[in-house]
Amino acid sequence: MHVCHIYATPRRILASLMPPRSHRPITEATAKELYAHAISCGHPQCNEPLYRDEGSGVRALNSRIAHICARSEGGPRWNPDMPEAENRSASNLVVLCISHADLVDQKQLVAQYPVELLLQWKQAQLDEYTRVVETGRVAGWALTDDEAAEVVEKSERSTTINLTAETIIVGGMGGHLGGAGGGGGVIGSDAATGGTGGDVTINLEGQPGQFPGAGGGGGGALDYQGPWLPHTGDGTAGRAHIAGYDGGDGGDTVISIGDREILRAPGGRGARAGSGERKQTDRLHVSALLPANAVFVDNALAHILYGGWRHVDVIFTPARIEMPMLVVVEAGGVDAGEYTITIDLHSPDGELRLTASLALVIDEPGDLVRVPFQHTWDFQADQLGVWRISVRSETSTLAVYDLMIKQPDAPVASSSVKGVAT
Ligand SMILES: [Zn+2]
Repeated sequence: MHVCHIYATPRRILASLMPPRSHRPITEATAKELYAHAISCGHPQCNEPLYRDEGSGVRALNSRIAHICARSEGGPRWNPDMPEAENRSASNLVVLCISHADLVDQKQLVAQYPVELLLQWKQAQLDEYTRVVETGRVAGWALTDDEAAEVVEKSERSTTINLTAETIIVGGMGGHLGGAGGGGGVIGSDAATGGTGGDVTINLEGQPGQFPGAGGGGGGALDYQGPWLPHTGDGTAGRAHIAGYDGGDGGDTVISIGDREILRAPGGRGARAGSGERKQTDRLHVSALLPANAVFVDNALAHILYGGWRHVDVIFTPARIEMPMLVVVEAGGVDAGEYTITIDLHSPDGELRLTASLALVIDEPGDLVRVPFQHTWDFQADQLGVWRISVRSETSTLAVYDLMIKQPDAPVASSSVKGVAT
């Protein structure tokens, strides 16, 4: 029956062009009723007042009215069977602080805030009100007409990002060959609002660095001024190193509410130098480890200009110190292949400040293979005392060098390595 098909097709198109259903906004009278029967944010662990005291009797709106079942089709907890009168009545509305109002409507988190939970919050908010009234204290918030209008206007402004079936990569991209990793991206503030949409994946993870040895990308950040979440950190980009060195990992971005971490966007892993495939052996040794004024390694021949400093004089802290080091690794009777050598720098309080790994490449297995390489530290010396440089393989610590960073008037012989005050 061809006739059926002719009629069926336009009907489907019509259905998809119809705007989503939406109920009318909350009335100002309902806003007044809600505020008159609430003390603080409806989230059970949150004591944020509904207005902030700005001093001298001035108060600033610190809350929003959240819909338990969304006002518009496709919105959070939308119930197609709920009549409009019920949708915009106090029974379907709960007053929350700005952060929690945003949180319960987040597309990614909405499953954690089902209708039943928000109804419990609402009941607890009313119970809190009743308790406070019984103590005889003045309770609830009396709104003026202007304040009620402001509450309705700000509460109805959608904070849901309107994107359909998109993947947003906010994490920094890992660097390419020889380059450092990218920093995390940021999602903008006021522009990032709109209606509801389809499934959206927000990928905050930093991307890994690329062969050979580029840094990983930092974790993504979300703009804390946006309609998102109250606090974010910024992911740091991974550090790239000279050829032969492994790329550094990108830093994580942590998003938290108060002390509670709610989201961690891991930074990308730095790529490994060489083939990236490392072997393990316990037959690696370090036969030389020393700082010097200059180190050049050329075809397995090392040239150094002054070295072996045991201390560095700085006039001020923090001081930027750029210090080349010579490291000679010996491998006795190991198989040909690549092995990981890692050099760490610890501050006097024991904190790991810098780390760098490289591929130690053994081409010819032999009785004794001696491989010199140079590594330059570039760091902020913000503490006086003994900084520890250590070299390790994947199985053990191979060598340690302690370097005193001190002020020139300290009673030790003078040094030829100067820190530059910054
Ligand atoms: Zn709250």
